[in-house]
Amino acid sequence: MDKITVHHICFWGVYYLDLPIEYYRIKMIEKIGLPPREERYNRLVDAGWNVFRLRSRDVFIDLLTDSGTGAMSKDQWASLMMGDESYAGADSWYRFKEAVENVLGFPFVLPVHQGRAAERILYTTLLDISKPADIVPANTHFDTGKAVIEFYGGKPFDLPVREALDYKTNYPFKGDIDLEELENTLSTGNVSFILLVLTNNTMGGHPVSPENIRETRKLASDYDVPLVMDISRFAENAFLVKERHPSYRDKSVRDIVRETMSYADHVIMSAKKDGLANIGGFIATRSEELYNRMSGRVVLEEGYVTYGGLAGRDLDAIATGLREVIDEDYLKSRVSQTRYLHKRLAEEGVAVVHPYGGHAVYVDVLETLPHLPREQFPADALAVHLYLESGVRGVGLGALAFARETEEGVVYPENEFLRLAIPRRVYTVSHLDYVAKSLGYVASRPREVKGLRIVWEPPIRGIRHFLARLEPV
Ligand SMILES: *Cc1c(COP(=O)(O)O)cnc(C)c1O
Repeated sequence: MDKITVHHICFWGVYYLDLPIEYYRIKMIEKIGLPPREERYNRLVDAGWNVFRLRSRDVFIDLLTDSGTGAMSKDQWASLMMGDESYAGADSWYRFKEAVENVLGFPFVLPVHQGRAAERILYTTLLDISKPADIVPANTHFDTGKAVIEFYGGKPFDLPVREALDYKTNYPFKGDIDLEELENTLSTGNVSFILLVLTNNTMGGHPVSPENIRETRKLASDYDVPLVMDISRFAENAFLVKERHPSYRDKSVRDIVRETMSYADHVIMSAKKDGLANIGGFIATRSEELYNRMSGRVVLEEGYVTYGGLAGRDLDAIATGLREVIDEDYLKSRVSQTRYLHKRLAEEGVAVVHPYGGHAVYVDVLETLPHLPREQFPADALAVHLYLESGVRGVGLGALAFARETEEGVVYPENEFLRLAIPRRVYTVSHLDYVAKSLGYVASRPREVKGLRIVWEPPIRGIRHFLARLEPV
């Protein structure tokens, strides 16, 4: 091998040769096991045919969610020992506040126990302020955020770009909001606030482009409504922008993050995603007035404003995680795993949503299981069947989660997806190969997948997929 090739491989090889590779090594392991098929069947019966209700010990490879399921680094474990558990004004709080300011650039932050508490407090406060304006347009709402807006009497509108609805194309920024639709909605005068979810989890984990963010900012200013971002995956969004946008190739992820944040008035964060922590979340804002207004609610609902329902050590783990997550070696490993699983599934003939996103691979279930009607919850049926055949747990995101009863009957969501979310720094490439082979096998025998019906569902709208009990049709 001549010198140039060596140089090439040293600096670029593993990435540009398209090899998924982990920029970390394993220091501590957890045993996992694969129960026999018969036992998996019995576990499904016990779980009411809902994979959320399975015991994790009965799952072999768990791609249910990337939320709070990541592995912490040794620096994060060391941070735990630094935790200051004082009730108010702890050192952990100051380290956390400084990390949020340093990485994201927001002067005011309120910690909360996880992302949905941030959604609840920020979204309902903004809905209160804007009354009677109650529409919340978004690139696509996330399930817990959508549920809290509806519960509070608001109207969540999903306005994804048209390109996002065609799963076969490689349009790079399918996370974008439809600007024309957004302007039409704004012109009604009934918009409470605009929401951009980075990355667009519900649509496929796709990134939002810098142009789209800038244009959305402009519209928010023109119509004088706040621009809120759900930044649960801000680092993955920035990395995908760097990877896909020619003008951002030479910018650092840190700078792309800072530029993105500069357009937001307020943000919510689930630290269980790009906080690289197992628990936690926060609201951050540039508005002192809004900070003051929300701080009472945090005290009432979460905990004192310097801990927000978290232990001091959790705040330290998040502070360290926020600095680690913008490390580009880490992000390369992260996204190369997603890209690899996406590629392998496509090779196995599985109808994946294109292109790959940041944290998960999405399977188009309507194409995979054309024989199953929507009222039999095909996405969840596929999740159940995949577990039965392989011990792999994904999650259905379709009719069970998003169908709505209206006066005209049931309205089904656009998508029926099986989402395979990859926990951060947890699985190896051979685990991903096992998943690809397993789902390839299942997808090649669609007729073996049985539809499901509901036996029991909870009374709150929008969250039945977490709790429902089902049975095969
Ligand atoms: C996970 C998530 C949330 C909610 O956060 P939790 O920490 O699970 O409460 C909100 N928005 C997005 C985009 C998420 O992925």
